[in-house]
Amino acid sequence: MTSPTDQRREGALVLFSGGQDSATCLAWALERFHRVETIGFDYGQRHRVELTCRDTLRDGMAQLNPLWAARLGPDHCLPLATLGAVSDTALTREVDIAFASDGLPNTFVPGRNLVFLTFAAAVAYRRGLKHLVGGMCETDYSGYPDCRDDTIKAMQVALSLGLDRRLVVDTPLMWLDKAATWRMGEALGGLPLVELILEASHSCYQGDRSKRHPWGYGCGECPACELRAKGFWQYRDTAYVAETT
Ligand code: ZN
Repeated sequence: MTSPTDQRREGALVLFSGGQDSATCLAWALERFHRVETIGFDYGQRHRVELTCRDTLRDGMAQLNPLWAARLGPDHCLPLATLGAVSDTALTREVDIAFASDGLPNTFVPGRNLVFLTFAAAVAYRRGLKHLVGGMCETDYSGYPDCRDDTIKAMQVALSLGLDRRLVVDTPLMWLDKAATWRMGEALGGLPLVELILEASHSCYQGDRSKRHPWGYGCGECPACELRAKGFWQYRDTAYVAETT
């Protein structure tokens, strides 16, 4: 078994979209591993603005903590237009977000995380990084089957076998709700990190950064905005209770 001290000598590649979850995962990895690189994917998503948030978040985290700055390595951004071309969803087409008869929202891009993890594993292999870190979460994602813990564990096994090299897929948010994710951010980097993630991360499916709410930018109406707002207010309420008791 790898001890925490050994693990700190290992490297990690963070699946970094520029959203709240992956930003928190980047801070988690910077605190844990001695070398951390990031990877993002451009698959023609409507909320491509999230990709432009990535540099701001990376620079901001490096400024927050000199140790994080020393550990933060290069960013990789891969064009995956083919994924957008084969998926007819509300994330890649100008259609309203709705729920299909199988209960899944039409924001579901089939196999998206399977594709992302496979490309990330190829880059990690080449860069000598043992860990992949992703913000997949079973608790309050919209039921996407490729975010489930079983799926991720199966991918870890398949990728390790297929590359003939031990690869670990870390999902620190898997069992957290959004309020707990904000709390994790605060524990990792204090209120300055919470402020950075609020200001610079992007969650809105509509790609709207024209409206600033207390919980960040977004249209305020799409499922991603609703989830982000709900989690933020829950986090703020519990923080307020903790301060006053
Ligand atoms: Zn929105």
